[in-house]
Amino acid sequence: MNTETNKKSSELFEEAKILMPGGVSSPVRAIKPYPFYTTGAKGAHLRTADGITLIDCCMAYGPLILGHAHPEIGSAIEEQLERGWLYGTPSPFEPEFAKMITGDHPGMDMVRFVSSGSEATMAAIRLARGFTGKKDIVKIEGGFHGAHDAVLVKAGSGATTMGVPDSAGVLSDLVAHTRQVPYNDPEALEAVLAKNSDVAALIIEPVLGNIGPVLPQDGYLKEIRKITKAHDVLLIFDEVITGYRVGIGGAQKKFGVKPDLTTLGKIIGGGLPIGAFGGRREIMELVAPQGPVYQAGTFSGNPLSLTAGIATLRYLHENASLYKNLEEKGRALEEGIGDMGGGCFVRLGSMFKYFFRSSPPKDYREVKECDTAAFPVFWKKMLDTNIFLPPSQFETNFLSEAHTDHDLAALAQAYRKCR
Ligand SMILES: *Cc1c(COP(=O)(O)O)cnc(C)c1O
Repeated sequence: MNTETNKKSSELFEEAKILMPGGVSSPVRAIKPYPFYTTGAKGAHLRTADGITLIDCCMAYGPLILGHAHPEIGSAIEEQLERGWLYGTPSPFEPEFAKMITGDHPGMDMVRFVSSGSEATMAAIRLARGFTGKKDIVKIEGGFHGAHDAVLVKAGSGATTMGVPDSAGVLSDLVAHTRQVPYNDPEALEAVLAKNSDVAALIIEPVLGNIGPVLPQDGYLKEIRKITKAHDVLLIFDEVITGYRVGIGGAQKKFGVKPDLTTLGKIIGGGLPIGAFGGRREIMELVAPQGPVYQAGTFSGNPLSLTAGIATLRYLHENASLYKNLEEKGRALEEGIGDMGGGCFVRLGSMFKYFFRSSPPKDYREVKECDTAAFPVFWKKMLDTNIFLPPSQFETNFLSEAHTDHDLAALAQAYRKCR
């Protein structure tokens, strides 16, 4: 695809720019000079308004582990449409879905459904404060937990300093309560917690997805579990990406570390909007109406998202070889790309990225060392080859069950050609 000749997309963007800030509904989509507009999607492919078919390695930033418009999820949604799509009352889907999710996650005795991952982390942080009676939170530099105030903190402001807002409109008084430590650095966490007894929780993506994948070093997650426990600090695993991506039970199951609270989103909605937070029973019992920590939502637990979610989780459970197949697809791509020099391929199952850096980064500072000038050139060449990668050097790329051997071969060839 040649971005100069997409007449329909450029016209749509001209109109959108006047009506919507930046012309888009979420900042990362504002590709320059204008984004392509998608009018259809199936399997591993996107179809643009100008009639071009692209191989998709963004997969809506993670939710679509089964690919676009999966027929089984589609028919579950269609069947539910007949029965209505919003009740405003409890539905039988809720206990059914809650049973699946708590059954899969060692760290979740109870769960509350919400409508996005951002909402889930916002509520989990409030709950951690409500449970511990403490004020501060610690997050990981480069970790992303959605677009709300407490977590919109400038990265790289250092372990012992107070947080600095990463967005206009966020009060510095508020982010002063958010501290940051580097990933894969248990000593830095220990130092912050030793100095500050007012920390309610550490919130962490167990595998850094939003600048990655950046993988946990051996023993790191177990170590931070020990440290948080020793300081009476809750451990929140933000598994919005890793949940059902790195396997059933997410990173907590894969790495054998039990957090106090877990947030989920993305895959559990089967492509429809969703979020969830859950954790130890004694903590979750503080959530309203059972307890004093308020949380509510008009669309929470809506029957359509839950239908798609249940169908997806059922599919993941029933297709025993699915994660093995995803691993094999990932490996095939990795081997197909091979060693191109000047960069490195990092992968965990179906999460991957080619970093413009000679060795795999271990934290945000090392990710920032990537060749930021080379990436946009490479990205544009890939798009011209009809391959859509997330339009940011920092986002994780995803494979789905729908990526065929043919897609993977085309991808590997394109990487070699465009690098
Ligand atoms: C995507 C994401 C979120 C935010 O989820 P939304 O549904 O976009 O609000 C939170 N945490 C992590 C780790 C994410 O990847």
